[in-house]
Amino acid sequence: MAVLEIFKYPAPVLKRPAKPVDQISPELLQLIDDMIETMYAAPGVGLAAPQVGRSCRVIVFDANRDESERSPMALINPEIIFAEGEFCMEEGCLSAPELNVEIKRKGQVKVKALTREGKEVIIEAKEFPAVLLQHEIDHLDGKLIIDYLSGLKRSLYKRKLKRKEEKEKN
Ligand SMILES: [Zn+2]
Repeated sequence: MAVLEIFKYPAPVLKRPAKPVDQISPELLQLIDDMIETMYAAPGVGLAAPQVGRSCRVIVFDANRDESERSPMALINPEIIFAEGEFCMEEGCLSAPELNVEIKRKGQVKVKALTREGKEVIIEAKEFPAVLLQHEIDHLDGKLIIDYLSGLKRSLYKRKLKRKEEKEKN
């Protein structure tokens, strides 16, 4: 297992819709293990393959907020097949440092996907885990929390990143 580099906004791979997985290969299983390790090392509660520079439809997450009890889950080709209600919380993203965005999402979702064993599953989630799934699946469609900001807030954030980058250069 290895901790992978997390790509940050505005890396192009984050904006690209990811390709469906057509074969669960040993390389893919390795990627999943590495993504789980990378997620915990960050630390974060979820990670999508484009965030480690791989444009394929794989997400990992752990909605268990109790750090002493890890229960990582990996989903391949996840797809939201049902969504209803509303839930709003402040979200952060490992690919968008120093940014929190309050996003209105669906409060309840059903997601169809394949497990790492290639078994089809339907996951039902509510509130925080539902938000987490929507956030990670957004990544597979090239969508970031930055895209939920108003134009003004987005340009302020870009300016902030630029300032930070310049400071790090000096
Ligand atoms: Zn994210």
